[in-house]
Amino acid sequence: MEDIHFTPGVLPADTAALRTQIREFLAEHLSDYPSVKRAQSWSGSDREFSKLMGANGFIGMTWPKIYGGGERSALERYVMLEEMLAAGAPVAAHWIADRQSGPLLLNFGTEQQRQRFLPTITRGESYFCIGMSEPNSGSDLASILTRGNHTKDGWRINGSKIWTSEAHHSTYMIALIRTQPQDPKNRHAGLSQFLIDMETPGITIRPIQNMAGEEMFNEVFFDDVLIPDDMLVGTEGGGWGQVTTELAFERSGPERYLSSIQLIYELIHELSKNPTERSAIGVGRLIAHLGTLRQMSMSVATMLEAGETPNLAAALVKEVGVGFEQEIPSRAYELTGRVPLLGNDNDFDQVMAYIIQSSRSFSLRGGTREIMRGIIARGLGLR
Ligand SMILES: Cc1cc2nc3c(=O)[nH]c(=O)nc-3n(C[C@H](O)[C@H](O)[C@H](O)COP(=O)(O)OP(=O)(O)OC[C@H]3O[C@@H](n4cnc5c(N)ncnc54)[C@H](O)[C@@H]3O)c2cc1C
Repeated sequence: MEDIHFTPGVLPADTAALRTQIREFLAEHLSDYPSVKRAQSWSGSDREFSKLMGANGFIGMTWPKIYGGGERSALERYVMLEEMLAAGAPVAAHWIADRQSGPLLLNFGTEQQRQRFLPTITRGESYFCIGMSEPNSGSDLASILTRGNHTKDGWRINGSKIWTSEAHHSTYMIALIRTQPQDPKNRHAGLSQFLIDMETPGITIRPIQNMAGEEMFNEVFFDDVLIPDDMLVGTEGGGWGQVTTELAFERSGPERYLSSIQLIYELIHELSKNPTERSAIGVGRLIAHLGTLRQMSMSVATMLEAGETPNLAAALVKEVGVGFEQEIPSRAYELTGRVPLLGNDNDFDQVMAYIIQSSRSFSLRGGTREIMRGIIARGLGLR
């Protein structure tokens, strides 16, 4: 049984100056950004904005300076994330590279890979996607079938990925590929990670329209795609252990409870036109939940900074956080009685309509609720 605790996390005093700097940056570059765009949260993509963030040192903030990073603390990065998410800034283009791919290359990449890829990420000039899920492998990731065969010219990849966020806008994918046949005795063996240039011949990318009508994720097909040997990340056959480390980065951030924040702003604005005690109580409850989640999430960030591996606490923040994000449209309906119509042109209706449609996916991406609950139950010794 794993110990579960939430040591109170306090942001160091010197993060206040950074917070001010980021707010000034946002005021300068995002003041006329529409509410419904802000509601896209970390799914909103704008390469020019990513380049601006890079130029201001807001990508790869914790990475070594020799690779273009800022050598700042994880808590400083946390402040940046909070401010970007609270403003609904369009961070999707570089989000995966900053959160996952860069740290993965720092942990497992070769020196040549770090020097080649990390500086372009920190400048906001190269964009990564994650190729894990396949048509018949999602929660059960170890069952993937996309195959990599070693040849004298490099690795030949055949198969397909699905639900790949931002693949159609990405320069590279980090893909999990089967490089040895499935072994029923060791399901986690024989998987490897590759850096794949998305312009390599043989790759077909087909966007899938989501419920909100957006083309955000994709099907990606590999037809005899040739990948040079030096694009293998880490050890051949060691992909499972590497992916597990990567998922810890993916599940512990403030994006797991702030994705619907724009609807809270719009709700407060709407209710303030005719304030009642009931609406004050309703908003108060939402803010109390938000504040508690923030404390829990900051606690995870503080523990990570101290070198701990609070995987169970991180899973709990994701599980409770997405539940909160998904509940906000229902709370907004209870407090306003409004049923938004897509054609309405006021911010409240547009943001609520968008979040009703998009929030269904929040508990699927990064691991479903059942999977997160399974991890928590196992950690608590319940299964
Ligand atoms: C918006 C969005 C973006 C995504 N982006 C990416 C991406 O960039 N890259 C990528 O690789 N993937 C991505 N995904 C895919 C995502 O990781 C998978 O959808 C998720 O892991 C679930 O897999 P699945 O869809 O195959 O569902 P399945 O695994 O088939 O699950 C179906 C249902 O069965 C339940 N279930 C499955 N196994 C168990 C179990 N052992 N115990 C209890 N219940 C179980 C699940 O909880 C779920 O309710 C994205 C998904 C979404 C929605």
